[in-house]
Amino acid sequence: MRQMGKISINVRYLEKLVYSTGKVAMKGIRRFALLALMLFLALAGTSSGAELGPLPASDNAHIDAPKAIPFDLPALKKNWRERIAAIKAKGMLPVIDIESSFNSNKLNLRRFAQAMDEAGIALIAYSHDANNTKWSDMAARVVSADPWRFIPTTNGGVHPAWTENPKEFLAETLKHAVSDGYPLLGEFEFRHYPSPRQLKRGELFRDVVVPINGPLGQELFAFAEKTGLPFEIHYEIEDALLPPLEEMLGRYPRAKVIWCHLAQIRYSGRSSVYGPAYVRGLLEKYPNLYIDVAFGDSSSKYPGSDEYHARVWSGGSVKKEWVELIVQQPWRFLAAFDLGGDRQDQLPEYNTKLRKFLNQIPEPAREIVAYKAAWKLLFGDELP
Ligand SMILES: [Zn+2]
Repeated sequence: MRQMGKISINVRYLEKLVYSTGKVAMKGIRRFALLALMLFLALAGTSSGAELGPLPASDNAHIDAPKAIPFDLPALKKNWRERIAAIKAKGMLPVIDIESSFNSNKLNLRRFAQAMDEAGIALIAYSHDANNTKWSDMAARVVSADPWRFIPTTNGGVHPAWTENPKEFLAETLKHAVSDGYPLLGEFEFRHYPSPRQLKRGELFRDVVVPINGPLGQELFAFAEKTGLPFEIHYEIEDALLPPLEEMLGRYPRAKVIWCHLAQIRYSGRSSVYGPAYVRGLLEKYPNLYIDVAFGDSSSKYPGSDEYHARVWSGGSVKKEWVELIVQQPWRFLAAFDLGGDRQDQLPEYNTKLRKFLNQIPEPAREIVAYKAAWKLLFGDELP
């Protein structure tokens, strides 16, 4: 039965009803009622031509789910295509979120999947917060429990695994990326200021500096160049950090790099170069550079500098120069939420914020940024 869970329950209920009715009715009528019901359901099932996919069995279905490795990408892609088509058939703009990470032990999987369906979120690149382990299979368990909504993504390169045992972490990540068939590597923090919430809590451990052109960066870029697997970087925007990044993009021209957080500048005093013209130049010079649009809303301030750090905004509008660039190069920009482990209940708010941005990008660029660019980057083919 290729139906959503809710409907298959209804089918069983209705069958029971029809059978019990049949006890007092003639056998022929019962058979006719059943046939009519089946015909109705068959038509209902095909009316949209596609499915959102069944919900996972429970909120913790992923915890003990078998690992889905190596991933059966053709089968997963079939589900995902159907899901995207189903969201479109409902009149919504599907979104592929290329960058979110989870504390899988605290994730309410079924509730989260329901929230995705309600918000028209087609797919989320699911990266587990590795915390202090050099590897975790949680993304593979999530995909096994819900093969309709999550793109398996390797564990994010975050403190402490990435900062304290980076060589081991990287070796394990690259090994699993290949043997398990991950289509995307999670976000590596090369330069990361503490997040606004961490600053407020006085947590400075996430003030991360890993030279992007050092040995770890060389290994990662070389791996990406060799395998064609895209990876994500967190790399604060400041003048001194731009030349080393360009050096790496130039040295590894086939490495597909997703630079997260378009125009998120924490300290304006450290950044005089970056802007729409500079980014246009980067995209023209480096054909495998991509940028995701995970940034705060126009009222979001970075507590470290007390500045509005999401620089794409001018009041409630996206600055016209950014819109122009995105319209010119839509395949290089990727929708993203940057949901973190402690923000999983905030999907509706993040969805509203992202769509406020997307709605200011004219079509067809909007649709490309929302989901088509991510699909093409990850899988090489284009969605209709
Ligand atoms: Zn980030």
